[in-house]
Amino acid sequence: MDLNQIISKDKVVSLNYVLSLNGGEEIDRTASDDPLIYLHGHQNIIPGLEKELEGKQIGDSVDAVIPPNQAYGEYDEEGFHTIDRSLFPENFELEVGMLLHLKDDNEEEMEAFVHEISDDEVVLDVNHPLAGETLHFKVEIVNIRSATAGEIDHGHAHNEAADHS
Ligand code: ZN
Repeated sequence: MDLNQIISKDKVVSLNYVLSLNGGEEIDRTASDDPLIYLHGHQNIIPGLEKELEGKQIGDSVDAVIPPNQAYGEYDEEGFHTIDRSLFPENFELEVGMLLHLKDDNEEEMEAFVHEISDDEVVLDVNHPLAGETLHFKVEIVNIRSATAGEIDHGHAHNEAADHS
């Protein structure tokens, strides 16, 4: 068995997937000529899927059911925050669903999605849109290779289109 061909830490994995929710609604899939490429063992993908892919080989098909706590977290009912619209610069184009990178009162970085916009207020939701969802992945492993030193250093996969030192 060629250990280079087995998914483990510091391997760059190419895969195709179909993602569905409980009940079967498909919400995402890779185009067959445009697989997802990620660096294994560096939290580039949700923890539950990374765990399921460990030890798999090229050509393997994986059906994985990932609970919220191994995906995008449980849904937090208290995750809504209403803030003054005037806190945003006047020319800032707010859109429902957009992801904002903010600092909270303790200067901690946080992410929030715009949930609702009114004339003078904006409602933010710190829940990921897939929070609370159990995710069903159908995965096919297309390729596995060893990461370069630069990729391991950066903690993500490189390809021709997005090469940088
Ligand atoms: Zn990089």
